[in-house]
Amino acid sequence: MVEPLHIGVLALQGAFREHRLMLERCGAEVTEIRRPFDTSAFGGLERFDGIVLPGGESTTMGRLLTDWHLLEPLRECGRRGMPLFGTCAGLILLCREVEGPDGRLLTQPGLGLLDARVRRNAFGRQIDSFETEFPVRGVAENCRAVFIRAPVIVSCGTDVDVLARVDGPEGPLPVAVRQGNVLGAAFHPELTQDERFHAFFLDMCRKWKDNRPAMGI
Ligand code: GLN
Repeated sequence: MVEPLHIGVLALQGAFREHRLMLERCGAEVTEIRRPFDTSAFGGLERFDGIVLPGGESTTMGRLLTDWHLLEPLRECGRRGMPLFGTCAGLILLCREVEGPDGRLLTQPGLGLLDARVRRNAFGRQIDSFETEFPVRGVAENCRAVFIRAPVIVSCGTDVDVLARVDGPEGPLPVAVRQGNVLGAAFHPELTQDERFHAFFLDMCRKWKDNRPAMGI
């Protein structure tokens, strides 16, 4: 029998329970992360085969990550190639640059692992929240997704693979991206019954776990 994947879900704030349930439905073992597990550079997070950063409020989450000394250990895991999956506020935390809805650069704590600039609350007030279906490359032709005060990627480096775009006020912009083992979605697949995005992430985790001895953790 294949050993189950062990996934950490950041549980400081936001929609972490829904991620947990969906990952468990996909057969993973899940541990919620609230504090580092030890004082090493990885904070004990190296026990995981992948980590999920949920949606919520990115400034609050960034502040809590800083206060609880989780920012550096998470960044270190990402740098070493551990698969990280951020949804909505989690995506914002992954990005190198963050801007407000007016396009002005913001300074808020984050991991800066994804070479992209993200705009917070990008869909405007009228369409604050919506549910839709669209193709995500490598995942499915009809992924279901819930957007809640969602961000979009406004620009990204050549190493960033755009997996999906959605029409926003400024035309089709990326809402699902991948750079190496860093995966980000502007929406919430965990709030639907569609498990395929999580299955895609778990596939990344499985591949990484299988090659792990070579990765240095
Ligand atoms: N609007 C939130 C932010 O900018 C993200 C919303 C979400 O995670 N659903 O942090």
